[in-house]
Formats: sequence, structure tokens, C-alpha cells
Amino acid sequence: MPKCDFCRRETAVKKCKIIDDMGTRYRNLCNDCITKLGAQSHIDILDETEEETAARAAIIGDVKLTTSPSFEGYRIVDYKGIIFDETLTGIGIRTVAKSLGDMFASLTGEQMHAITDRINELETELIDRMRKKAVAQGANAIISIDFERTIPGGNAVMVSASGTAVVIEKITEEQ
Ligand SMILES: [Zn+2]
Repeated sequence: MPKCDFCRRETAVKKCKIIDDMGTRYRNLCNDCITKLGAQSHIDILDETEEETAARAAIIGDVKLTTSPSFEGYRIVDYKGIIFDETLTGIGIRTVAKSLGDMFASLTGEQMHAITDRINELETELIDRMRKKAVAQGANAIISIDFERTIPGGNAVMVSASGTAVVIEKITEEQ
């Protein structure tokens, strides 16, 4: 039986290319570790079939999202914990503003558009990473999603997202 290079379990493994802050490396990983590591790192599975890649993407894409504490028509059957992610972007200008609103007041429409577009991009990336984290924790939905935008320095915007990973189940008519 092959062994997973990460958890050392003897189980089925896949050849993976892992890319993150630590660089690029090749490891044989089990399915659990692929999901777990995939929350923080970019993983290309080298010997995965197209069908398997599509199935994995579908599971992540199917994670339901809401800013409210529940979903209409669904019940929460398990709480998997709070998930959080943040990212920073340079905004190409110097500002003394402490909030986004104050900063926008001093900008031209064009500058404002460029920064708003960048923030929207970052929020989409964050949501994608949050979905992966939720799947890594065995959840199929994220509730109470909250975005925060702050200006930590004079020329950057920090976007953070938090939410609670949960397992939801559709409420059927009979119940
Ligand atoms: Zn493993």
C-alpha cells in the first residue's frame, strides 16, 4: 500500500504539485490531506482524471453562502467552527484616511472605481478560499459571512472575511 507523504497513513495517494509561500514541491497525498492542504495552498493533482477534477471543483462550488445565521428551507445539523481569511492590497495612493468612506471622499471617481474593483476581486478570492476551508472542515455551507475593509497603513486596504462553517440539510415536506 502506498503512503501519504503528509499524514504518513498507508492509503491511496495521488501525485500532487503544491504551490504556496514555501515554494513549489511534489508530494504523494491522500484525499484527506489534499482537502486539508488545499485550504491554504494551491494544489494541482497530477494524476487526477478530468472527471475527478470536475467533481472536486463541484463540491467546493456547491458550498452555500449566506450573511444571515440560517438558510430558508434548510436546517443546520452541525457546526464546524469559525473560518477566517484576510488579504491586503496596495491602492497606489497615499492616504491619511482611517476608513474607506473617508478615503473615497478625497478621491476622483476614476480612483474610486479602480479601488472598488480591486476590493471586489479580493472578496471573490477570499470567498473561494473560505469555500475550500469549509470543505476541508467537512462543511457544506458558510453562514453569518461578514466582510471588513480597513486601512492598516497609508497606502493599502485590508479585506477580511469571516463566517461559520456548518453542515446543512434540506428540510423535506414529510418532516
Ligand atoms: Zn494524508
